Amino acid sequence: MSYLDRGSVIDLHTHSDRSDGSEPPDVVVAQAARAGLDVVGLTDHDVISGWSEADRAGREHGVVVVPGIEISCNHHRISVHLLAYLPDGQDQALMEELARSRDSRDTRLRAMVDLLAADGYPVTYEEVLAVAGPEATLGRPHIADVLVRNGVYPRRDDAFVDVLASGSPYYVAYHVLDPVRMTELVVAAGGVPVLAHPFASSRGRTIDEGLVEQMALAGLAGLEVDHRDHGPEERDRAATLAERLGLLRTGSSDYHGTGKLNRLGENTTAPVVLEEILARATGSGLLGAV
Ligand code: AMP
Ligand code: FE
Ligand code: FE
Ligand code: ZN
Repeated sequence: MSYLDRGSVIDLHTHSDRSDGSEPPDVVVAQAARAGLDVVGLTDHDVISGWSEADRAGREHGVVVVPGIEISCNHHRISVHLLAYLPDGQDQALMEELARSRDSRDTRLRAMVDLLAADGYPVTYEEVLAVAGPEATLGRPHIADVLVRNGVYPRRDDAFVDVLASGSPYYVAYHVLDPVRMTELVVAAGGVPVLAHPFASSRGRTIDEGLVEQMALAGLAGLEVDHRDHGPEERDRAATLAERLGLLRTGSSDYHGTGKLNRLGENTTAPVVLEEILARATGSGLLGAV
């Protein structure tokens, strides 16, 4: 593969304003070029609407864009994020499931806003929609943005450790699939599933090895080992598990623009690993300057 060599810099997990990143897809790709990346994966939460814009920007800036999704899943009330690389964007079963999840996020967002407003927090559904933009997958980060704007907290992070935390009385769940079932759906759509930040305990409870084994049996291809939310012990644990189960090891920034401190390219994926992901994908082609 001519565009991939041993020195290629590859970051396979970023967000645009189609979910909870702060920049449009074309700006994320332009930033990727500026940061010296050769390959960038656009993986907005539960949505593929940024792919075509990222594609155009990739061609313009000479960056290969890997189309992906970070799919929200839930296992016994533990939140699990599944990265899906190069699935078929026309796959009906997968696209319907993502649409159902986005609808449920909308209902859930109204419920959370109602609970907060009833207790005097300055936030309305309309304000949250306005900060999120017309096409975004709605989530807690957008409520955080309104609370920051209205002076309740200095930064998104501060809202997440308080009223938006998963154990908070203002937290409301939304409909998503179990990660084993979602792994099967991604594989059926020709995509390559990689479990995002599996042991990131700062985000709440995490799953155990047994569930990862079940996901591996369902076709899981890799684990995101190198991620800011993993400390050295969590990286070791994930790397050991990946080796035992024969899974690929990826690393990425989980860039959210100004929404998080994560910087493009702060963790990267080896070119041989990307080659393997590309070889396994049968859903959609690569975007950008190939
Ligand atoms: P939701 O899917 O709506 O429940 O919200 C989860 C999202 O919030 C994830 O996509 C994270 O990117 C984001 N998130 C989680 N913790 C934080 C934090 N401490 N600061 C900013 N964003 C966060
Ligand atoms: Fe996010
Ligand atoms: Fe995530
Ligand atoms: Zn992410």
